Amino acid sequence: MTMQYNPFDNMLEVLDKAAAMLGLDEQDYITLKSPERELKVQVPVVMDDGKTKVFEGYRVQHSSSRGPCKGGIRYHQDVNIDEVKALAAWMSLKCAVVNIPYGGGKGGVKVDPSNLSKDELKRLTRRYTAMILPIIGPERDIPAPDVNTNAEVMGWIMDTYSMFKGYTVPGVVTGKPIELGGSLGRSEATGRGVMFMTKEILHRLGIPVLNTRISIQGMGNVGGTAAKLLYKEGCRIIAISDMSGGLHCEEGLNIEAIYEFLNNGERFLLKDYPLSEGVTRITNEELLTVDTDVLIPAALENQINIKNAADIKAKIIIEGANGPTTTEADEILNRKGIQIVPDILANAGGVIVSYFEWVQNIQSYTWDEVKINRTLEMNMIKAFNEVWDKTKEKNATLRMGAYMVAIDRIVKAHKMRSIFP
Ligand code: GLU
Repeated sequence: MTMQYNPFDNMLEVLDKAAAMLGLDEQDYITLKSPERELKVQVPVVMDDGKTKVFEGYRVQHSSSRGPCKGGIRYHQDVNIDEVKALAAWMSLKCAVVNIPYGGGKGGVKVDPSNLSKDELKRLTRRYTAMILPIIGPERDIPAPDVNTNAEVMGWIMDTYSMFKGYTVPGVVTGKPIELGGSLGRSEATGRGVMFMTKEILHRLGIPVLNTRISIQGMGNVGGTAAKLLYKEGCRIIAISDMSGGLHCEEGLNIEAIYEFLNNGERFLLKDYPLSEGVTRITNEELLTVDTDVLIPAALENQINIKNAADIKAKIIIEGANGPTTTEADEILNRKGIQIVPDILANAGGVIVSYFEWVQNIQSYTWDEVKINRTLEMNMIKAFNEVWDKTKEKNATLRMGAYMVAIDRIVKAHKMRSIFP
């Protein structure tokens, strides 16, 4: 980890490099170098003991050139404005690379939600929603789940917004419970997309899916679902981790049993999972440098950095998390010939099905799960092919290819609209 890691600077570096490869002048994309709008809010919450605690929240809208801003809300003790700005920019690029009609936004509250009771979490969510209410809305900016937020939290956001409006507005938020207008397939969509992208790159590189060794950092919504689906596809999941530590087994872990253990309603952690023969405990750091075919970082930013990049043994990295690789690490990995499917493509499955959810909400119509999953797959493979072609055309990395496809789309939209007034 570099001392002053700033994810927004990280984003800018990659943006500049890709824009230069596209032959753009800085003037062409200067509006992408800062967010359109940044809102910082105070979130006071009356705790269960009657005392008031004040939390800090943000909502950043990076670009609306291609449509309403779109992106999740994160609850984490390390949330800060530079992180939210970077995450918002990555959403603009992500929506553009998979060609859905959105710009990018992101929100966050600096809070460790594991320290809050359910009622406190609900009050925090409602107050935060009230504070960002003037800038969100189905035509304006549509939040969704991210780290430590889920369907239940989205339901509270939807209700709060609707109470202010005086009528129910399902399309203000995606990733809601199905009963409140959520979409089938949304909760698994990001992990499913990671699975599609893993299979796609394996095909392209001529590596059989069966028995491919996969290591996954993070067993939350993204990593956990990817593990489950790749296991079903016949991959060998040899290492996994969560914030408490990880497990390793060269023969492959029993993912079904572990998934069951972690998702049985109580807050179970991998460190409590009973060891069986051939299974050893590893740390999160060890997981990243395990001898594996595919590494899937599916936790937070800045995990693959200057300290560990040289030791990474994977042949392929699929970025399930947003921004897991620093720019310095990226260069080292590229020199080592590691193929990286970048975050803005690899984890776009979530926002793609969010888009389907929003479309269903606007039309007051529902799609079945088969249609959702099939359309998601088609959309992601099309995007993968476009990125692959751009990568070959420009003799670049997949990250540069993805950024070039995305920047080109945003810049074209921006030019056609021109600058107001
Ligand atoms: N938080 C997710 C992401 O980073 C999903 C965003 C959305 O569905 O709007 O892509």
